[in-house]
Amino acid sequence: MQEKLSKMLEEAKEQLNKAASLADTEEIRVKVLGKKGQLTEILRSMGKLPPEEKKALGMAANKVKAEFEQLLAEKAAEVKAKAKEAKFKAEKIDVTEPGKEIAYGVKHPITQTIDEVVEIFKSMGYAVYEGPDVDTVYNTFDALNSPENHPARDMTDTFYINEDMVLRPHTSSAEIRAELELPLPYKVLIPGRCYRVDTPDATHSPTFHQIEMMVIGEDITMGDLKGSLDHMAKRLFGPETRTKFRPSHFPFTEPSAEMDVSCFKCGGKGCPVCKGSGWIEILGCGMTHPHVHQAGGIDIEKYTGFAVGMGVERIAMLKYGIDDIRFLYENDMRFIEQFK
Ligand SMILES: [Zn+2]
Repeated sequence: MQEKLSKMLEEAKEQLNKAASLADTEEIRVKVLGKKGQLTEILRSMGKLPPEEKKALGMAANKVKAEFEQLLAEKAAEVKAKAKEAKFKAEKIDVTEPGKEIAYGVKHPITQTIDEVVEIFKSMGYAVYEGPDVDTVYNTFDALNSPENHPARDMTDTFYINEDMVLRPHTSSAEIRAELELPLPYKVLIPGRCYRVDTPDATHSPTFHQIEMMVIGEDITMGDLKGSLDHMAKRLFGPETRTKFRPSHFPFTEPSAEMDVSCFKCGGKGCPVCKGSGWIEILGCGMTHPHVHQAGGIDIEKYTGFAVGMGVERIAMLKYGIDDIRFLYENDMRFIEQFK
């Protein structure tokens, strides 16, 4: 019997050495300690032995059992630890591995320019107002102090939908709508698409964008106009930028001016960008003509205001060094992606 016990323990040790999983160790446990296990059988057969032998064998069997149980527990802990490690290895995430590239879109340089100008004026309390691309001839010309015989109404100037409707040639068409709709005083930007009968070339496109700027209130002066635009120029083209206002003429403003900015490329010394003059023409502006305010139902004794119209493409082309306006409309991703 003693021999049998030793042999059984040796066998169990051997098997435990080979065990690679918890299922293996459980199988060995059942083989030894299960209902029909080897040790269980030995203990059961002890009943027939004389008392002295029974006692000696009982002690030996308990010793073997204790040793086996300890070995079993150690092995079980070992395979459990190994399994855990293997799991960690399998599920390991390499945080240094480069991720999958996500294709980000990019805002069109025209949209970027509009956003930038809107952002600048938002910080000065301006709101955004929008008018329709197709507007009445009245809103587009008559109400803006361009009577029927005015050169600006030349049939070739814009696209006529019918006698009374046009594709707006300027965002100024929305001025009358704003005057009739908005409570006074107000400061708005009116960005949008405009249309003119132009043959496309490096600087002309039949479709283009403008941002109209419009302020109406009490005691609004040319000084307010100049200050606002000077601030915009410095934010758009850099803090060193200087501005210059030249007298001009527009039917809807009086007095009217064109604003130049000091060349942001050469700082005013003269270069190809500014054609050697040191200055770059940016926009037209002026104090809103009383006739326009009257058309919009504004009390001209109480209120004054100013209006500005700037070409988005012109600003984008200057800012980003684009030398042909047609690049902006070709939707060539190689061009657009440069503005990320
Ligand atoms: Zn220059």
